[in-house]
Amino acid sequence: MRPSGAAAVPIVVFDIVIVGAGPAGLCFARSLAGSGLEVALVEAQAEPDLADPPFDGREIALTHHSVHLLRQLGTWAQIPQQEIHALRDAQVLDGTALPGMRIDHSDGPRSQLGYLVSNQLIRRAAYAVLRGQERVTLLCGRRVTGIEPGAEHSRLRLSDGQSLQARLVVAADSRFSETRRAMGIPADSHDFGKTMLVCRMRHDQPHHQVAWEWFGYGQTLALLPLGDGESSVVLTLPHTDIQGLMAATEADFAAAMEQRFHGRLGRMQLTTTRHAYPLVGVYPRRFTAQRFALVGDAAVGMHPVTAHGFNFGLLGQDLLAREVLGLAAASGGTGYTRDPGDARMLARYGRDLRRATRPLYLATLLITRLYTNDAPPARLLRRAVLSAAGSLPPLRRAVAHSLMQAGDSRQATTPLRGLFHALRG
Ligand SMILES: Cc1cc2nc3c(=O)[nH]c(=O)nc-3n(C[C@H](O)[C@H](O)[C@H](O)COP(=O)(O)OP(=O)(O)OC[C@H]3O[C@@H](n4cnc5c(N)ncnc54)[C@H](O)[C@@H]3O)c2cc1C
Repeated sequence: MRPSGAAAVPIVVFDIVIVGAGPAGLCFARSLAGSGLEVALVEAQAEPDLADPPFDGREIALTHHSVHLLRQLGTWAQIPQQEIHALRDAQVLDGTALPGMRIDHSDGPRSQLGYLVSNQLIRRAAYAVLRGQERVTLLCGRRVTGIEPGAEHSRLRLSDGQSLQARLVVAADSRFSETRRAMGIPADSHDFGKTMLVCRMRHDQPHHQVAWEWFGYGQTLALLPLGDGESSVVLTLPHTDIQGLMAATEADFAAAMEQRFHGRLGRMQLTTTRHAYPLVGVYPRRFTAQRFALVGDAAVGMHPVTAHGFNFGLLGQDLLAREVLGLAAASGGTGYTRDPGDARMLARYGRDLRRATRPLYLATLLITRLYTNDAPPARLLRRAVLSAAGSLPPLRRAVAHSLMQAGDSRQATTPLRGLFHALRG
């Protein structure tokens, strides 16, 4: 990989330009490395921020399929073992009712549902494995400011005045993707009107590597188990309430969290900085256009409650890379003689990604609407749904299996598709 500090960028013509070197863009570039394709990644942040990103509060729950993909990319080996935490089981609670629904690893074929790794470490590892890759050019500290699609190639304008040309442009520039908008792709977005606060806390009571999703009345709380006696705490409230908690002293914050958890975790203590994320879900009407494709959050901007944003980002970049590299293989080996922006290939990618992600995206909207509605009829309904789901073994097994499978991304199933197959079979 050429460093971004080079005085002049010698190549302005690429096969593929990726906009955005977040975790999805970095992983996609790594998937293409070694194919013979000339790839450029354009990133607004400075390169040192990619090499050593700061802690951002996000702990990413990874499915077994995602870990399988990260292993293939070499990224998994770059994450320190002691920073990878087991997500053994998950418990979903409603209001004060117990026991809610438990998704147990023993309903599936593995000893844990998934893994928890901080977003900071995933980003660092994704950058580390890209360093040294030939034919990958990283253009940091500059933004893509314009795009002109064309029949043979597309042109991109950068904020430093440079122009790039590519046969395929892939936007991985976040759920608020400017490149997607510039291409005229409409997106349905849903502002949940809430903000999510995330941080790490130590607590007296053990977590037994069980994640909690607790839909309380007036608040949603989640607990993601990390090392012994430490968890990631995730609190969703209206923005002004979150602002108050962000500004509170550490002692006042800890006291407030003990109270919000009804003392279930004993004494609690803040161990990291606090981070707040306004919640907006985004789903574009299509994932591709002429010589253009979306990956990562730019393609599917999930609400974090179902913990699938980056899992879908990894899945999507793998589906697209397989299409692009499949053409490379079909062209007979090392030389890439066919077109990485081939319209039929892009159409297949869009169809497969939609099939894999749309049901869970819509289900997540429904879940958040129902479980943040505290009106009495909604309370009755939400409790009934959770209790029915908890006593429906096919659903629990489908969710467990969908989290634990690993293999071909085109066969990857989401909990909803898994349930459909479980009920059919
Ligand atoms: C609180 C929270 C918890 C989460 N938990 C989970 C979880 O448990 N499991 C899970 O799978 N997912 C989870 N996610 C989702 C996950 O964090 C995201 O899906 C993932 O980080 C998105 O990566 P990305 O590369 O697509 O986008 P981003 O990380 O948003 O990166 C986009 C990049 O594009 C760059 N960029 C933007 N515009 C331009 C431009 N014009 N030119 C050049 N560069 C540009 C930006 O600088 C940035 O580096 C969570 C998210 C949040 C907020």
